[in-house]
Amino acid sequence: MKNLKDISVYLFDMDGTLNMGERPLDGAMETLKILTEAGKTVCFVTNNSSKSKYDYLKKVCRMGYKADIKQIITSGMAAASYLNRHFPGRRVFVLGTETLCFELKESGINVVKTGEDADIVLLAFDTELTYAKLWHATNLIAEGKTYIATHPDFVCPSDNGNMPDAGAMMALVEKTTGKNPEIIIGKPYAPMAEYVFDFCKVTPDKVAFVGDRLYTDIKFALNNGMTGVLVLSGETDIQMLKESGLNPDYVFDDVNSLRNYL
Ligand SMILES: [Mg+2]
Repeated sequence: MKNLKDISVYLFDMDGTLNMGERPLDGAMETLKILTEAGKTVCFVTNNSSKSKYDYLKKVCRMGYKADIKQIITSGMAAASYLNRHFPGRRVFVLGTETLCFELKESGINVVKTGEDADIVLLAFDTELTYAKLWHATNLIAEGKTYIATHPDFVCPSDNGNMPDAGAMMALVEKTTGKNPEIIIGKPYAPMAEYVFDFCKVTPDKVAFVGDRLYTDIKFALNNGMTGVLVLSGETDIQMLKESGLNPDYVFDDVNSLRNYL
């Protein structure tokens, strides 16, 4: 744990931390501006692999913070980097959106279609899921193809109720094939941390991760050497924190408390 005054890079989760759906939380965008003006690096780190970094850039700007593309990190970006480094040239079947497939192809990944053979199945947050895609993925996984997931979140909060997310799809695959991913890229796991440190050119002791979810955000910080800041503006309350056995370095009602540590 570091004193927050010594932190140079602030990484933020989004939903429940800075915003609820399209609505920024009170003061959150102003807090980001204050941190930036104080010389801190601010980045947005989302496990949501259904959208591209450009979608997130637009969203952050729309909410009132003038971000740059160099401040956006998604689990899809980290997955592309991981695949390129560890499985160069392999055929990847993606249980994910067209946007994600496009981003992966743009990064040089050999993305194959439904019905084609593949070496790897990448399970992502697929808001364009079809039964044909799901069945093809479970067949490949059952055959023993390398099984990777972009992130483990069970649900994605939305204005219209919780959406079944990648973790829920992993449970469905597990019930069908008996298998779980060999590698999970996103928060709280190491591939995302390695990608983030490389992306921001920083060592973990200089980084604070600010988020509202215990099993992804806070575990991500604590398991990978960062300072962990839990905010109670999203899905976690004090009772859940007590029962979790996790010890975040800081617990705040919302991100606006960060203004006291400049
Ligand atoms: Mg969140």
